[in-house]
Amino acid sequence: MRILVAEDEITYRHMLRTLLTKWGYEIVMAGDGLEAWEALRSEDRPRLAILDWMMPGMDGVDICRAIRQGKSDPYIYLLLLTSRDQKQDVVQGFEAGADDYLIKPFDPHELRARVHAGERIVELQDRLIRAQEALREQATHDPLTGLLNRRACLDSLLAELSRGGRTGSPACIGMVDIDSFKRVNDAHGHLIGDEVLCEVARRMQDSLRRYDVIGRLGGEEFLLVLPGCSIEEGVKLAERICHVVCSEPVKVKNWSFAVSISLGVAVANQPAPGDMEALLGSADAALYRAKGAGRNRVEFSTQLRRPSSEAE
Ligand code: GH3
Ligand code: MG
Ligand code: MG
Ligand code: MG
Repeated sequence: MRILVAEDEITYRHMLRTLLTKWGYEIVMAGDGLEAWEALRSEDRPRLAILDWMMPGMDGVDICRAIRQGKSDPYIYLLLLTSRDQKQDVVQGFEAGADDYLIKPFDPHELRARVHAGERIVELQDRLIRAQEALREQATHDPLTGLLNRRACLDSLLAELSRGGRTGSPACIGMVDIDSFKRVNDAHGHLIGDEVLCEVARRMQDSLRRYDVIGRLGGEEFLLVLPGCSIEEGVKLAERICHVVCSEPVKVKNWSFAVSISLGVAVANQPAPGDMEALLGSADAALYRAKGAGRNRVEFSTQLRRPSSEAE
């Protein structure tokens, strides 16, 4: 673990460096307050800091206050190490945002125990952050394919419609359905079907642009959100994906499956968040036509299927 030691007195600097290094910590040294503040704002800032109170530039208590005001994330554990030993100093230190307070001259065993306590807090927060990230991943991703789940890809469509509304750029989507997928399951079982489904998802994802979005709407249906595409560009992209998916058979175990997809592409030329259902309806209708026309193909729609309109 890396620890920032901010201390202007040479003897203490030396002592702290020797002790902490002996205990296995990696040390970042700062000789004054400003240097310490810079180190604590840097990208790879240490998560635990031992701060002297009185230092040139910026004192330890000012640093505590500034760090807490900035709501630094992840949390930085701050230990004030100072010769100011009055009750009101201790109170002031904690009120400024310090997590611990040790008075100089200090006992090395006590410092070690207190650094350990800080380390426990930092590790606890790391575990919380990891748990939070795992929850966020679970809430937004489909566990089978790893793609965005239904809610998350519809959320990005909504965001894209709002963005298009502000910038005036079109919002284009593709609705995808794997062709005759039931046959794979019927002939080889659901587990093999799952592997084929994942490979199709991977092929589609690999053929998208960096900023396109793909999500699994459910079953063997997927949604593509293609920012900034006109209907022509959207259809071109969809045709490329269609081609990539069927370009070679999917191999699972000793079997080889010829796979294909059908796509319905639709665009909102002057998008607004309220267009979501109409846009999905248009893409769905185009997909239905692609199925009817023999599958493994792209159909498109340039009219939004608003509930009240006769379009299409
Ligand atoms: P079409 O070309 O008309 O789309 O034919 P299809 O057989 O793909 O269409 P249908 O909607 O009749 O069947 C979809 C099949 O997809 C049925 C279901 O068993 C299968 N399926 C849906 N979700 C999963 C899944 O998560 N894993 C597996 N293995 N199969 C799935
Ligand atoms: Mg000092
Ligand atoms: Mg289907
Ligand atoms: Mg299907």
